[in-house]
Amino acid sequence: MPQPAHIIDGKAAAAALRAEIGTEVAAIRARSGLVPGLHVVLVGDDPASRVYVTSKEKLAVEVGMNSVAHRLPTETSEADLLAKIADLNADDAVDGILVQLPLPKHIDTGAIIDAIDPAKDIDGLHPINAGRLAGGKTGLVPCTPLGCILLLKQVLPTLAGLEAVVIGRSELVGRPVAQLLLQADCTVTIAHSRTRDLAAVVRRADIVVAAVGRPHFVQADWLKPGATVIDVGINRMPDGKLAGDVDFAEAVEVAGAITPVPGGVGPMTIACLLRNTLTAFEARRG
Ligand code: NAP
Repeated sequence: MPQPAHIIDGKAAAAALRAEIGTEVAAIRARSGLVPGLHVVLVGDDPASRVYVTSKEKLAVEVGMNSVAHRLPTETSEADLLAKIADLNADDAVDGILVQLPLPKHIDTGAIIDAIDPAKDIDGLHPINAGRLAGGKTGLVPCTPLGCILLLKQVLPTLAGLEAVVIGRSELVGRPVAQLLLQADCTVTIAHSRTRDLAAVVRRADIVVAAVGRPHFVQADWLKPGATVIDVGINRMPDGKLAGDVDFAEAVEVAGAITPVPGGVGPMTIACLLRNTLTAFEARRG
């Protein structure tokens, strides 16, 4: 009888990563008196964004960073937001800048991301960082994709040569995950809404990363037995509970290892944001 999958504990992995970061921050402070600074900019009062910003602030403080949230009113103009970014770019004590998305509709998100100093772009969304990733060079990498790779490395001793299928091609998740898997020497397929016979494509995969935004979309009978499944999806169900993009209850009987939702990729995202802040600090002032 096949064994149920190993459930990858993203909460524990994120706590371990934050503990490691906390130790590094303490060592930096002891050695140099410097403290890495994470600055989050929130425009408006979207309730979900407010919750995200508060938890980023709290976890940055917990690892000993200097954590500042800049809360700006919804009616902030694009020019005023660009001026705020310019101030943060110029401030040597600011190591990481994150602009919480989505922005109000009157602001051009692309123009704001382009204005962030790439050396402080801890979300890894600036075209220079995206280009470095696409070119296989080091740089700041988007947080959720980085979290996916760290979780994969926990269960797979080597990724080289494995078949990986990423479902989704967004700039935020699908594309950067695929680039990171390619850097790790996987054979990578990116599937999307126009992919033909998705089930057959997924069935080849040793690694499946689902970043679609549709609850329970990936079916257990699409999976190769023993495959490692990373479920990035966060979907709010009518009963208020969260569901992933994978039919977890069935997939757990076929996969070799799988992330749950919640408690899988989600917790790694903020831990990777802190990791990126430290990476940015080390590159500029370390
Ligand atoms: P997105 O920008 O909406 O992209 C979704 C992708 O799925 C697109 O590339 C789309 O293809 C593809 N897709 C849609 N329907 C499909 C189908 N029937 N067959 C195959 N592919 C299909 O979403 P995202 O920002 O990447 O986010 C994906 C999910 O991850 C969401 O649930 C989001 O909430 C979650 N998420 C979680 C975290 C975290 O911290 N855990 C972070 C970010 C996002 P096309 O390009 O052809 O349209």
